[in-house]
Amino acid sequence: MSIKENLKHIINELQGKAELVAVSKTKTPKTIMEAYDAGQKVFGENKVQELIDKKDELPEDIQWHMIGHLQRNKVKYIAPFITLIHSVDSLKLLKAIEKEGEKNERIIECLLQMHVAKEETKFGMDEEELKQLLSSTEYLELKHVKIRGLMGMATFTGNMEIVRDEFRYLKKLFDQTYNSFFNGNPDFSILSMGMSHDYKIAIEEGSTMVRIGSSIFGERIYT
Ligand SMILES: *Cc1c(COP(=O)(O)O)cnc(C)c1O
Repeated sequence: MSIKENLKHIINELQGKAELVAVSKTKTPKTIMEAYDAGQKVFGENKVQELIDKKDELPEDIQWHMIGHLQRNKVKYIAPFITLIHSVDSLKLLKAIEKEGEKNERIIECLLQMHVAKEETKFGMDEEELKQLLSSTEYLELKHVKIRGLMGMATFTGNMEIVRDEFRYLKKLFDQTYNSFFNGNPDFSILSMGMSHDYKIAIEEGSTMVRIGSSIFGERIYT
């Protein structure tokens, strides 16, 4: 199937419940343009250098999302234009984003990444760290970042019951966080969960944003 057909199929599956971030890591600008020409305008990358290289070669109206682990010293490269950072996992990083937001005179939208998977390798905060961050006075003083919601990745497993439980837990955490810290604030509305192999389950469990790469572009080849 072509990229265009893949996109059409996925958008149909999403039933208007979630926004699609097309994960274009390792893909060339030419391949990305195929998705762009088919109407996709939101793309996600997981490396800063790769993201800024591609941005320079591609149309201005693409909305770029940073979905991978982000080092504080690299925030400055994406701060002028990034639409959403999915991978905020500490107050330190949030403060670095604040600083660059201020320099660029913009408010940078962020998701807090939660660790729910069994793998140690995955990044993210636990429930306690999340509460501590949101209750800290330092967080409350930040004027150039806006927390739009939570992001999480399920365990990489073929056992879909484990995946479903983790997504359900993320949704519960999202609702609790809204009630405790953002009540009445419509900005806190994004739950980013679901990838190629598990997005259908993520949607069933309340995802509002999915990050999909290989089901659109085909398997990634790392060289
Ligand atoms: C690569 C990546 C995805 C997309 O993975 P696919 O399995 O190709 O859909 C989603 N989220 C993050 C954080 C990623 O790094």
